[in-house]
Amino acid sequence: MSSVILQPAGERVLLMGNEAIARGALEAGLQLMAAYPGTPASEICETLIAAPRPGGYHVEWSTNEKVAFEVAAGASLVGARAMTAMKNAGLNVAMDTFMTLPYGGVKGGLVVVVADDPNAHYSSSEQDTRLAAVSAEIPCLEPADQQEAKDMTREAFGISEILELPVFIRSVSRISHASGDVELGPVREEKNSLSFNKHYKLPYRWNVYGAPGPLSKHRWLHQVLPKARELAERSPFNRLELVPDARVAVLAAGVGASYTRESLDRLGIKERVSFLQLGFFHPLPYGLLDKLLPGVDTLIIVEEGDPVIENLVRSFAQERFNSLRIYGKSHRSVFPPYGEINTELVTRALSQVLKQEIISDERDEARERLKELVTPRSSALCAGCSHLGSYWALGEALRKFPGNHIVNGDIGCYEQGGYGLFASSIEPNEAAGKKYPVGSPYEILDTIHVMGSGLGLAQGQVQVGYQEGKVVAVAGDSTFIHALLPSVTNAVYNQADLTFLILDNRWTAMTGHQPNPATGTTALGEKRENFDIAGVVRALGVKNVSIANAYQLAEASRLMEKALKDEGPSVVILQGECQLQVMRREKKGDCNTWVEEALCDGCRRCLRLGCPAVIFDGERKKAAINGESCTDCTLCEQVCRQGAVKMRGNGT
Ligand code: SF4
Ligand code: SF4
Repeated sequence: MSSVILQPAGERVLLMGNEAIARGALEAGLQLMAAYPGTPASEICETLIAAPRPGGYHVEWSTNEKVAFEVAAGASLVGARAMTAMKNAGLNVAMDTFMTLPYGGVKGGLVVVVADDPNAHYSSSEQDTRLAAVSAEIPCLEPADQQEAKDMTREAFGISEILELPVFIRSVSRISHASGDVELGPVREEKNSLSFNKHYKLPYRWNVYGAPGPLSKHRWLHQVLPKARELAERSPFNRLELVPDARVAVLAAGVGASYTRESLDRLGIKERVSFLQLGFFHPLPYGLLDKLLPGVDTLIIVEEGDPVIENLVRSFAQERFNSLRIYGKSHRSVFPPYGEINTELVTRALSQVLKQEIISDERDEARERLKELVTPRSSALCAGCSHLGSYWALGEALRKFPGNHIVNGDIGCYEQGGYGLFASSIEPNEAAGKKYPVGSPYEILDTIHVMGSGLGLAQGQVQVGYQEGKVVAVAGDSTFIHALLPSVTNAVYNQADLTFLILDNRWTAMTGHQPNPATGTTALGEKRENFDIAGVVRALGVKNVSIANAYQLAEASRLMEKALKDEGPSVVILQGECQLQVMRREKKGDCNTWVEEALCDGCRRCLRLGCPAVIFDGERKKAAINGESCTDCTLCEQVCRQGAVKMRGNGT
């Protein structure tokens, strides 16, 4: 992470949105940060891990988002300023506690940052988590740029302490992963003092069931909300720019506000349109709308994600401004209901409603030229990745059994086993059941949804009596720890006859190689005893547990074949550390693997392994190895039946 986060107050520096959020937390006197990695939110915690922790704060990678949320909440209940950060899907994991904590609230400032991913660049869904904040009835802020990302985070701690409620900051990929100019403020050295009072201002304050029960805590929450609305009314993040006699107004939130400012400039209509930028949108500041809307007959709402603010405004306006025409994403839609917005879309929407012609400029031309430069390509696992070995061995094992097998995937680098091949053109069909050939590791997974879901789906398939083929589930080490202990227990308890593969590469690799309990180190690099996956699986009651080396294809395949034959739940743990981490630690030397052309018959079997370091000359029908990326993992040597792949030494 960039060291500019540590520059002194008053400096203007270029910060990624996630770094800006981390800096904002330092400026607020952060005392605890807990998170589980998830793109596009991971760099918030990573930045705080890398920082020298002025004044001291605890920082950890927790085992999942619910645990992280609870760790942060616990710190807040004893008065500390605490933060947790996660991606959109991560909030679903934390949801149980997230929805209940506002009943009674918090003591020290508690900030929950969720980075949504409109357009699903990195995620399994476009889920708009602002709906969760509205549903939990807590304040929600949404930055328009990196400066606001920092400033809002700093202010959110104070808002949380005034209201005694968690405060939600909703970021999006274009804020979290883009960089912008940020003016730094002073880092708060002072820390909140720690104390505990179980009847703090309310009987049984931190116990929803404590007399007189959850209803009274919900009533308390509603007593706090008007105060939250007042804060939103005078928040510096809500800016009202009235144009006298304007009949049209634009209300824009989050990154949509930045796009809107650019669009208004481009269309040259700033003098015709009143503008309300909402950064602190929940509770909706009714007073600002009361100032914006009189005399306005057309309101355009610009927001990233679902029509969350639009629906709040519609419900507010139907009483007081019932002739107002509202344009947004639901009725009179001028934005698509999915995908992300951008300046181009906002410009088109404003031009459509205001009937203002768009004069094309050099940006349009540049955008078109840029499209030509982008070469479409398939996603691929890394050269020498242990998952390539696991999937090859699984394919070989499954081929020994007849039928239409189902391999349920999960979330991690290995999910690429379900991405398919760019070159394949899929023809969907209406057959109820159909078997497809698996020609590459990128076609082996049949279902992928969210972390931990694959094993549950597999259980449903076998328990309902699916007998057309074998049923398999696949998950990584971090996912196993994050989400799968209850699911394995369930498989044992209900005796599900399936095979579960745990691809143990020792890192939470996909989100940037964060350590997890299987790595044996903490976020700060302190040594811990390695989490014993096999021991835990056995302790949960699985009788058939085996451990294979993902780089020993024949043995791995044999153990999988045995597991597929065994009755009841069987687990095979495939070990093989992430090659990127191995190469970083051991420094990649010269490549020791090559193809002896005279022996190569052009069968392409090595290509089907899916390693990006294996290349093939279609004209000469000869395979070759890209020595720049090859890690000498030996997999292609094991796969080649002609003995054409040669190695010096024993490989890695
Ligand atoms: S040895 Fe073969 S499979 Fe392994 S990284 Fe090199 S080219 Fe890829
Ligand atoms: S598997 Fe062996 S023989 Fe077949 S293309 Fe690859 S190197 Fe050549």
